[in-house]
Amino acid sequence: MDERTTRRPVSAGAEAELGKIYKVHEHGEVELVDYLGDDRAVARAARTSYQKADGKNEEADRKLILRLWRDRHTSPFEMIQVTFRIRLPIFVMRQHVRHRTASLNEWSFRYTECPELFYVPAHDDVRGQHAANKQMSGAALAEDTASRARALMDSQNHEAYRAYQQLLELGVAREQARVVLPVSAYTQIVWNIDMRNLLHYFSLRLSPDAQKEIRDYAQVMAGVVQRGWPMIWEAFEPGYAGSTPPVV
Ligand SMILES: Cc1cc2nc3c(=O)[nH]c(=O)nc-3n(C[C@H](O)[C@H](O)[C@H](O)COP(=O)(O)OP(=O)(O)OC[C@H]3O[C@@H](n4cnc5c(N)ncnc54)[C@H](O)[C@@H]3O)c2cc1C
Repeated sequence: MDERTTRRPVSAGAEAELGKIYKVHEHGEVELVDYLGDDRAVARAARTSYQKADGKNEEADRKLILRLWRDRHTSPFEMIQVTFRIRLPIFVMRQHVRHRTASLNEWSFRYTECPELFYVPAHDDVRGQHAANKQMSGAALAEDTASRARALMDSQNHEAYRAYQQLLELGVAREQARVVLPVSAYTQIVWNIDMRNLLHYFSLRLSPDAQKEIRDYAQVMAGVVQRGWPMIWEAFEPGYAGSTPPVV
């Protein structure tokens, strides 16, 4: 190995994910930028309960991880940390930020100008209001209605961005000019969370009753976890109430 040799336990799957940029919608991105601990970190931490050292084989670790999750002995899962860089629209960020057990640092539109990037749903994903559930969307709208809806969203985004630029040209500070930006504007965060709470986030945000736009982000991150921490994913997935997310 080169000078980057480490004595830390690493996950081959997570190493392969580092730096890969996954697209979400037209402008969104998810990238695993760092992590701490492989699958077996959970087993190693759990064994301290019995004052047993590491040294069991991989299959014993796998069975232990399955049992720990099943028995809700979840603190060993907190030994693993993952850090994602995420570019997401502000309205998705508002849902994402509710997960208080994560740490994050957000792009500042006080320091830099907001780029002209706005979320507009894909043509076949402009959804109507759900008939029974007051919170959720329902089926996709007819093609001509979707086109009109998208055109409205586009023109509003464009107008808002024009007003933003005019305010900047007038000399208004970036921190005040941004008040005209809509929640469809994109922001960016570095988001760090431990595995236990990330799985909790998945159980909420992969669920069919979560808004589809945040679910799309959760699915991409779930794919990263599935490939980077396969034993943990195997333990989590059967207990997870929603549909199985595809590996993206
Ligand atoms: C489908 C859906 C609809 C939602 N609708 C709304 C809505 O209409 N309005 C709205 O405001 N929010 C809404 N939310 C957000 C929701 O209320 C939670 O804030 C969000 O899902 C984060 O969940 P959490 O608190 O479990 O996660 P985290 O904040 O990551 O916390 C993880 C766990 O830590 C513990 N914990 C964290 N903080 C505390 C605390 N202060 N006290 C005690 N225990 C704590 C809890 O056990 C918690 O489950 C919705 C979420 C979903 C998934």
